Amino acid sequence: RDTGVPSRHVTARVAPLGSRLVLALVEDRTRERRVEAVRRDFVANVSHELKTPVGAIALLAEAVADAADDPEAVKRFAGRMGKESVRLSTLVQQIIELSRLQGDEPLDQPVRVSVDEVVASSIDASAIDAQARRITVVAGGEEGLEVLGNAEQIGVAVGNLVANAVAYSREGSSVLVSARGEEDAVDVSITDQGIGIPAGEIDRIFERFYRVDPARHRSTGGTGLGLSIVKHVAATHGGDVRVWSVEGQGSTFTLTLPRAL
Ligand code: ADP
Repeated sequence: RDTGVPSRHVTARVAPLGSRLVLALVEDRTRERRVEAVRRDFVANVSHELKTPVGAIALLAEAVADAADDPEAVKRFAGRMGKESVRLSTLVQQIIELSRLQGDEPLDQPVRVSVDEVVASSIDASAIDAQARRITVVAGGEEGLEVLGNAEQIGVAVGNLVANAVAYSREGSSVLVSARGEEDAVDVSITDQGIGIPAGEIDRIFERFYRVDPARHRSTGGTGLGLSIVKHVAATHGGDVRVWSVEGQGSTFTLTLPRAL
C-alpha cells in the first residue's frame, strides 16, 4: 500500500526486519547522491571548458573583422582561430567518448585485437607532434600479442597515453612503447623522459579535467580528459592502468588488458 510517506521513513520502518536491508538502502541512496554530485560537477566543468574556446573564437572573429586592412594580422588571427577550433573539436569528441564509457559496463562482444597494430597506429597518430619537437617514438617488447576487447576503445586509450608521452617530453628525447605478455594479461607500457609528475599529484591525474599546473601546460593544448578516458577503457575491459613517475625525469604508464590466447 502506498502510504505517501517519504522513502526515508519507509527505510526506518523496515529496520526491525533486518538492519542489513536498511543499511543497503541507505548506502544505495548515498551512492546515488554521490553519482548525482559527480554528474553535476561534470556538467559544470564541461560548460566551463567549452566556453573557453568558444569565447576565444568569437573574440578572434571580431579581431579579424577589425583588422581587414592588415593581411598579416588577419593571417595570425585566422591561425589562432584554427587552433581553437581544433581544441574545441577534441574536447567535444572526448566528452562524447567519456559519456559512452561512463557506466564502465563490461563489453558485450570482445574481439581479438592486435597489440602491434594498436601500437603502430598510435605512434603514427602522434608522428606530427613528435617530429615537430624531434621526439623519437619507438615500439619495443614482445611482438604478436593479442588482447580481448573493443579495438576502437583500446586504440583511443593507447593513443592518449602515447600522445601524452610526446606532449610532456623534452625536445629531442625518446618515448618507448612496449608490450609484455603475462599469463592472462598484456601490459602495454609507455615510457617517456619528460617532465614527470609531482608525487603529490599522481593520485589526481586520472580525474576528469584535472591537469597538473595548467599554466605550465597551456602550450600543449590538453583538455584534462585523456587519462580519465584511459581509466574507463581499462575498467570496461576488466584491466587497469598504473603510473610510475619521477618529477623532472619521466613517467611510465602501464595499461593492462586481458590477453587473447
Ligand atoms: P591532458 O589533456 O591535459 O594531457 P590528461 O587527462 O591526459 O589531460 O592528463 C592529465 C594531466 O596529467 C596532464 O595535464 C599532465 O599534467 C599530467 N600528465 C599526463 N601524462 C603525463 C606524462 N606522460 N608526463 C607528465 N605529465 C603527464
